[in-house]
Amino acid sequence: SALAGATGLALALSACGQNSESSSERRFERGTVGIAMPTRTSERWLTDGKSLVEDLKGAGYKTKLAYGDDDPQAQASQIEKLIKQGVDALIIAAVDARSLNGVLQQAADAHIPVICYDRLILGTKNVDYYVSFDNEMVGLIQAHYIIKKLGLEDGRGPFNIELFAGSPDDNNTKYFFKGSMTLLQPFLDSAQLVVPSGQTELSKITTLRWDGPTAQKRMSGLLAKWYGSKKVDAVLSPYDGISRGVLSALKQDGYGSVGKPFPVITGQDAELPSVKSIIAGQQSQTVFKDVRDLAQAAADMVDDILTGRVPWVDNRGDYNNGVKDVPARLLQPTGIDKTNYKLLINSGYFTADELQ
Ligand code: BGC
Repeated sequence: SALAGATGLALALSACGQNSESSSERRFERGTVGIAMPTRTSERWLTDGKSLVEDLKGAGYKTKLAYGDDDPQAQASQIEKLIKQGVDALIIAAVDARSLNGVLQQAADAHIPVICYDRLILGTKNVDYYVSFDNEMVGLIQAHYIIKKLGLEDGRGPFNIELFAGSPDDNNTKYFFKGSMTLLQPFLDSAQLVVPSGQTELSKITTLRWDGPTAQKRMSGLLAKWYGSKKVDAVLSPYDGISRGVLSALKQDGYGSVGKPFPVITGQDAELPSVKSIIAGQQSQTVFKDVRDLAQAAADMVDDILTGRVPWVDNRGDYNNGVKDVPARLLQPTGIDKTNYKLLINSGYFTADELQ
């Protein structure tokens, strides 16, 4: 029977060989995946789009990629078009967490599975999975950095800090902020950290569409109104584009010169200009999220769904979108500063030349 088994195996293998051509053809008939990304103004989303297309192609799918250019209505129309074109699955990073409910009903009616990519879509039952980074961890990493750099655990202070948050229509914003405040709040309570503007409520510190110039304007206003002879010791910034806006305002105010050093400034996404700024000693820190891994995770999820397997998730309770708990897979972010930025080169995210 061992022999029969071996023969059976050989037959199976040869049958496989004979069919290899048609099965490789089949690989390319797996279907089309619609990808809706939010913006082209930030480098990371270009990498996300490119990686998703590559990974899905590698798994035998066709792709249609659309960028919403930070316009919720435009993004809804793009998704509607993808549905009409008959895509088999949708991967969506929403511009606005709440403006896709209508179009997602159309997706559901057409039995198109929907994966929320990086940002959770709110207020609809018509989403199937969520793939992102541990968003609260991002905020924890940023706050932890500020605490270490200022020596707050050694009882130092008081220090002046200003708080910035992301876009109010992005569900991630509240997770980043919650993570940060979990660690910062005790030092605000002990007055080792002081916010001269008094602006600590999330609703007062958001930055619509994560826009750098908007953050620059707010920072300039804060410096003019609340600082006078005081100086800023730290700025909690959730995203590199916001950090660079804040830095521009600080430079205009004379920071970065003798006797007026830059404050500790956090960030997120390891964007090229920010990594350069970190190396140059301006921005202090960023949070690296290897979006190539995120894209791969999303592509795997789509492949599992479309081939009848159950995607692997590691979180079933933390991401409720107001209507249901969306099963989620969360990747881990990494803090980057001047001491470990080479990790970005070692992992192939940037070349050494790009960081020159
Ligand atoms: C993403 C961040 C990004 C921000 C602005 C958020 O939803 O999670 O990585 O910095 O959007 O693009």
